[in-house]
Amino acid sequence: MSIPENLALVRRRIAKKARSVGRMQEDILLVAVSKTFPASSVEEVARAGQLHFGESRVQEGEDKIPTVNVSGLIWHLVGHLQSNKLKRALQLFHWIHSVDSASLLCKLDRHAAALGKQVPVLLQLNLSGETTKFGISESDLDSTLDAALQLKSVSVEGLMIIPPFYDDPTAARPFFRRLRELLDYSKKRAPALPMKHLSMGMSHDFEEAIEEGATIIRVGTAIFGRREAKK
Ligand SMILES: *Cc1c(COP(=O)(O)O)cnc(C)c1O
Repeated sequence: MSIPENLALVRRRIAKKARSVGRMQEDILLVAVSKTFPASSVEEVARAGQLHFGESRVQEGEDKIPTVNVSGLIWHLVGHLQSNKLKRALQLFHWIHSVDSASLLCKLDRHAAALGKQVPVLLQLNLSGETTKFGISESDLDSTLDAALQLKSVSVEGLMIIPPFYDDPTAARPFFRRLRELLDYSKKRAPALPMKHLSMGMSHDFEEAIEEGATIIRVGTAIFGRREAKK
């Protein structure tokens, strides 16, 4: 299948799943994750009507985003952000999904203020205790929310998770469900924060994520095709 056909199929699957659980398709934002794919593939997907794109590395975004020949696209950083790349990240990306510590949040706020920007961000949680994964642990959520309340140039729009990979997508469900509970908790604990989004679900489990309340899904392979293995 061609890339536009893949995109159309993903959109149909989103619509069908949303309907089946009584949700509106418009309430689920599709971010097309273009990592490892060239600017020409982004253009192809954009011409098929896709507006939101994601990259997982600042460096790759820096090489690719300025060369994409379609204006008005909205870029999401979905991968780990190193503190020495904050300024560059803020210049390239409109949303940052991967804020994985209170200190990163505070640094982002300072850089965003210096650039005169207001940046929507999500807090990435690590609920599996995997030490190889980035993310705020559940026990650090309160202190991160408290820090967020002091900041003016970042708006904390919700939570994000990359659950452990399971062949069986239903196995990720408890993580999606827990993230949703933590969003509800965060709204109560810090009502002044915007806190309305759940960024969860990728190519192999976005339908499960939609059932569990995802408002943003991040889909790469199902749109662009398989990525070549890392060299
Ligand atoms: C690569 C990536 C995705 C997309 O993954 P697919 O399985 O290709 O859909 C989503 N989120 C993050 C954080 C990623 O790094």
